[in-house]
Amino acid sequence: MMRLVLLGPPGVGKGTQAERIAQGYGIPHVSTGDMFREAVKRGTELGRTAQEYMRSGRLVPDEVTIGLVRERLSADDCRNGFVLDGFPRNLVQARAFDEVLAQIGSRLDAVISIDASVETLVARLTGRRTCRRCGTPYHVIFNPPPDPNTCPACGGELYQRDDDKEETVRKRLEVYEAETSPLVDYYRAQGLLQVINGEQDIDKVYEDIRRALEEATAHDRA
Ligand code: ADP
Ligand code: AMP
Repeated sequence: MMRLVLLGPPGVGKGTQAERIAQGYGIPHVSTGDMFREAVKRGTELGRTAQEYMRSGRLVPDEVTIGLVRERLSADDCRNGFVLDGFPRNLVQARAFDEVLAQIGSRLDAVISIDASVETLVARLTGRRTCRRCGTPYHVIFNPPPDPNTCPACGGELYQRDDDKEETVRKRLEVYEAETSPLVDYYRAQGLLQVINGEQDIDKVYEDIRRALEEATAHDRA
């Protein structure tokens, strides 16, 4: 049982680490960005709403996002926990999420905040390639797939996300600073925050996360 939030700027490695955590702990990886991209791909009403916000690097409206997460977390596979990646993204979402947790009689075990410099984030985002089918992220230099166009996990096509172009990247980093970074203090005040250095290689970041989670859950048991 593990209920986690991964916090951090775009490109810091949340999706990459969330996949490992999901496998390592046997819990679903819940990514609001992946859910929105899936809706866009399917051409649903949700997708049509989300698309214009995503394209310009802004946040999708809170009512839409909160409703989506509430529904997803009530699914059976989330009963034994989840790793949330990309939600909450502002204080309104964080407070609404606290209410959702209280309603289902549940609470978070930890919030992992991953850090890196702006130069690192820009380099990671502009070189990112994402699987159209399963959403797994790769990087042309830092985590190159054997075949540059094909996902080694599922055989899907790799592409560059629209919002990973340089102009949109800048906007997304601004939105993070203005709207999402206050959540670091919010969760520190709740005693849930663990800060991880995201400048290290993927394996080392994961190792640090595992150690932080062991500590967080050891506290719980004490
Ligand atoms: P986020 O979900 O936080 O936006 P991703 O997990 O998609 O970030 O990672 C962004 C990009 O950086 C991807 O191309 C990924 O392969 C790469 N990446 C992730 N973690 C690291 C790391 N520790 N070192 C180098 N590159 C990384
Ligand atoms: P991500 O895949 O997390 O980088 O998110 C990609 C885009 O999806 C963001 O730039 C937003 O437009 C949208 N998005 C993802 N998660 C949220 C959220 N919790 N609230 C609002 N918008 C979101």
